[in-house]
Amino acid sequence: MVRFTVLASGSKGNCTVVSGGNTRILVDAGLSCREMFRRMEQSGEDPRTLDAILITHEHQDHVNGLAVTARKLGIPVYFTEATHREWMRWVTPRRRMTYAEWLEQCRKQAAERRAEPAGDGPDCEDAEAGEVVALQAAETPEEHRNEPKTEKPDPSRLPAIEFFQAGRPFQVGDIAVSPFTIPHDAADPVGFVFRAEGVRLAVATDLGYIPPNVKAQLKGVDLLLLESNHDLDMLRDGPYPWQVKQRVLSRVGHLSNDATAAFLEAEYDGQATYIILGHLSENNNLPELARLAAEQALSGRASLLGNRLLVAAQQEPLAPIRF
Ligand SMILES: [Zn+2]
Ligand SMILES: [Zn+2]
Repeated sequence: MVRFTVLASGSKGNCTVVSGGNTRILVDAGLSCREMFRRMEQSGEDPRTLDAILITHEHQDHVNGLAVTARKLGIPVYFTEATHREWMRWVTPRRRMTYAEWLEQCRKQAAERRAEPAGDGPDCEDAEAGEVVALQAAETPEEHRNEPKTEKPDPSRLPAIEFFQAGRPFQVGDIAVSPFTIPHDAADPVGFVFRAEGVRLAVATDLGYIPPNVKAQLKGVDLLLLESNHDLDMLRDGPYPWQVKQRVLSRVGHLSNDATAAFLEAEYDGQATYIILGHLSENNNLPELARLAAEQALSGRASLLGNRLLVAAQQEPLAPIRF
């Protein structure tokens, strides 16, 4: 059975579980490890059965719980190389070695750890306590930066890293993954189309507009998780500073309800059984506004009335969708 479970979606944290065949993938890790595990269990997903974590881009709402979760489960993390490099900068601001040196060190550590026994269960407590210490230490003022590092564990340590490239499909167990470039202000952001048991599932959030390559990827999918980030009037009149508003509105920002509706109305092929609106801004949107815009777009096309429209939330998981 193929299953798609949005654990959280929004500007404060994103993660989704994609299951197909005997494989389970966590797409982004934007909540704390503990909260992700709590929501997985609430949704009937066992964190211990996850096989890999895939990262769309390095923004905090997609990687907050990444290192702790990957270490706890001892599973590989898939990034593009540029995304990984940016994540490294964020998580270890004191690091003085070059990226190539770090990569070599990481590979050695991963080889050593392969011999270690795995964790005994989905409990994040120890790891997260350690992580807080490490991150606090990383904020030490500039003048202390050359002192020997004492914090443990290294906040950038991951059990294993796999690099992928946008435009080059790859396989994780029983799930085929097609990563595609999206326009967003991150190092090398991607969306994904997953295929398992003949079912195609697309994840496209965090994009300033929908360019032709993304439109092509979103054809013929059975499930579409598509961003509907903000209501234009709420954003314009809202509390964000001018520069942040400009960033959100830009070609490398986020999709508005209107932009998503325009795509659904004019260019979407209507194939998906489920359309999930996601990455709603808590400050500049309301679920009812996002839903209304999309419903109006779909209702203009009689052929799309069979599409089921759902809105993913920040504070609670969406019920698992099964195929
Ligand atoms: Zn982002
Ligand atoms: Zn985001």
